[in-house]
Amino acid sequence: MTVKSDNEVDVDVLVIGAGVVGIYALYRAIDAGFTARTLEAGDGVGGVWYWNRYPEARFDSESYTYGYIFSKELFREWRWREEFATQPEIEDYLNFVVDRFDLRKNISTGQRVVSAVYDETDAIWVVTTEAGETTRARWVISATGGLSVPHLPEIEGLDDFQGEGHHTGAWPHTPIDFTGKRVAIIGNGPSGAQLLPAIVDVVESVDLYQRTPTWTTPLNNAPITSERYEWLHDNFEDIVTVLSTSPSGFLHEPAGKFSTEDSAEARQEFYEKIWTSPGFAKLTSNYYDMTTNRDVNLEFCEFLAKKIRSIVKDPVTADRLIPKDHLFGAKRPPFVTNYFESFNKPNAGLIALKETPIVRVDATGIETTEGHRDYDIIVYATGFDFGTGALTRMGVKGREGLDLSIDWADGPSDFGGFSANRLPNFFFPGGPHGAGGGNYPRYSQDQVDWILDTIIYAREQGYHSFEPTAAQEAIWMSMIETLAPLSIFSVEHSHYYGANVEGKPRKFLLNPGGRGKLHEILDGVSSTENYGGAFTSAHETVAAG
Ligand code: NAP
Repeated sequence: MTVKSDNEVDVDVLVIGAGVVGIYALYRAIDAGFTARTLEAGDGVGGVWYWNRYPEARFDSESYTYGYIFSKELFREWRWREEFATQPEIEDYLNFVVDRFDLRKNISTGQRVVSAVYDETDAIWVVTTEAGETTRARWVISATGGLSVPHLPEIEGLDDFQGEGHHTGAWPHTPIDFTGKRVAIIGNGPSGAQLLPAIVDVVESVDLYQRTPTWTTPLNNAPITSERYEWLHDNFEDIVTVLSTSPSGFLHEPAGKFSTEDSAEARQEFYEKIWTSPGFAKLTSNYYDMTTNRDVNLEFCEFLAKKIRSIVKDPVTADRLIPKDHLFGAKRPPFVTNYFESFNKPNAGLIALKETPIVRVDATGIETTEGHRDYDIIVYATGFDFGTGALTRMGVKGREGLDLSIDWADGPSDFGGFSANRLPNFFFPGGPHGAGGGNYPRYSQDQVDWILDTIIYAREQGYHSFEPTAAQEAIWMSMIETLAPLSIFSVEHSHYYGANVEGKPRKFLLNPGGRGKLHEILDGVSSTENYGGAFTSAHETVAAG
């Protein structure tokens, strides 16, 4: 292999995507002294927090645990207004970070990458945008996200609708005026569940089209008081330690006990406490055996079902909102304020699609087996081509003719959830098998840190190419396949298995080993000579291990 010298590339590191992960990757690359550039498809930075700008889009991880923790100064300078911030505040924050660290000059927006081809002779990536601009880079970090390709449902007649149709994941920049409109929301995942209460008081009517009920629970949001703000800053180092080491990447206090340690009465009291806990604490602060002990989970589900029945006045609607096919936590639960309460409003309806499926969308509205309803606006809160969607659409071509869209046709194969054999010098933090069952940015930060440390090591040692060997990839994939059946996310009809996209193979797309396994495997590789054969230099020949 011959290798172009570093001054023959346009940049050392090319980052694709300026979302939460991409901004951090660019920051770290520049901080390490590399020349670096980011190509971003949107006209602004923010990634999912740029595109998902529907009313009431907000974090359901605590703002200060989702935001960056690499800089104490930044942690102090940005004062989050709420425990769970809304999209406009999040977008402002990410813009603040970009300017705070002087990254904007390195980011080109409105540049959608359509091709990324590895030049084996020169050991560089040639990356081309839709506009035809080409960048040659030694290293590529594709921070294109797992939830960046909105998925429209396979329903007849979508294009016939003459009103407004919007996907929550590709929301227009011009605010939509819902006042006095007849609205349909299709989908009751976190996006649809957040939108309903946000618009119910201004619309003429809103119908939520629900296929599968979910265990939605209250977000329990609160403003961040001055006392809380000071506490957060006084405890920055401890917070970083917890967020960087805990399996979930949250600050929530663990229950400290198994369900069997409490009496039946004490368990009900405990569930009341859990009901009022913030966001994901309903999973992370719950009994240790909540997701492994079927009996206690069923008991908690019955507690939640009673809550739903006590909130929703119409018993038929309440019953339709109660999940029957999965336990709590088996599917990613939404955490939303006033979701169930919305169904008590006289202008809100629930269409249970298992009973009355959609037949088609037409010019004026939606026809189900029950009849036709007219709408002014249809919102598709129908999710994303999760995990692989962006990467397989980007024209990624690696070594020996590897075409990612073909290679991953039966499901992704990777190492660490961010790299793959035959994709030298190409990383995709936050990609398939990237996140475990916790706070996304904390997992992605682990990955970006490992990637940058690896690139820095390559520079120090004079290596030009990093590529996980086939053997390393096999070890990682074997961990994924062995542990996937044990994941708490056991509902196979969810996007975590690619099940929401017709024709997509049913493969588990998270890291079921969580942070523990991620670190164990990465540490194992980086502690070996030459990273176990993953590095090559100009004078070596690449060999798939
Ligand atoms: P989602 O969780 O995939 O939910 C999609 C919804 O659309 C489901 O209710 C699904 O029903 C329904 N659906 C899909 N195809 C349909 C069809 N053909 N007919 C009828 N219904 C259909 O998508 P999401 O709500 O956008 O959330 C995706 C992910 O984004 C979440 O897991 C989360 O990670 C993230 N998110 C986070 C927040 C936050 O609070 N921070 C907010 C929004 C999203 P089935 O369940 O029956 O498939």
